[in-house]
Amino acid sequence: MTNMEYRNVYCIGRNYALHAKELGNDVPAAPMAFLKPTHAIVPVAGTIAMPAGVGEVHHEAEIVLRVSKPYAPGARVEELVDRMTLGLDFTLRDVQSTLKKQGHPWLAAKGFRNSAPICGWMPFPGAAAVEATPFELRKNGETTQRGFARDMIFSFQTLLDHLGSTYGLDAGDVVFTGTPAGVGPVRDGDALELLWDGQVIGACTIAMK
Ligand code: ZN
Repeated sequence: MTNMEYRNVYCIGRNYALHAKELGNDVPAAPMAFLKPTHAIVPVAGTIAMPAGVGEVHHEAEIVLRVSKPYAPGARVEELVDRMTLGLDFTLRDVQSTLKKQGHPWLAAKGFRNSAPICGWMPFPGAAAVEATPFELRKNGETTQRGFARDMIFSFQTLLDHLGSTYGLDAGDVVFTGTPAGVGPVRDGDALELLWDGQVIGACTIAMK
């Protein structure tokens, strides 16, 4: 899939209680959605450039869903989603804190170039199978984030119903479904690996530029 084939890049904030807590945020009563430009998507491979001199750049490892059909009320997640993978919702955390205080949109903190790397697409095995499978981020060989989709506050079904009925969902849309606890900064030269069920499905090196 080239970026031309992607449509909307939805992201969900605060979908794991322990992550909301680690940033001092309340657990939301409804899904908290935001968007990234399609230009943010790059493969998890080789060297990925991150902006230098703008404070901390945090990794957020997430399960990413690809929508293959137009949303219709009552459609099950297994009908709407044909592929899944793992991705990184890179975040300029200091910039985001400033934007939050000012009540400004998050785009500058969340939507910059290369802010949405994704691994290769895998068949979607159904929500129950995904919920029971561990996913993990290793930084320089050490596990920094590990989670299960079953710990999400809002299920895949709830997220898709919310996005589809409120904003619309169609083939080519992708959904970053939120990050578990353990987010933290990346530095120049850091080696990142994303693991699905204990297997590395994507690896990259960070270059601060
Ligand atoms: Zn995120």
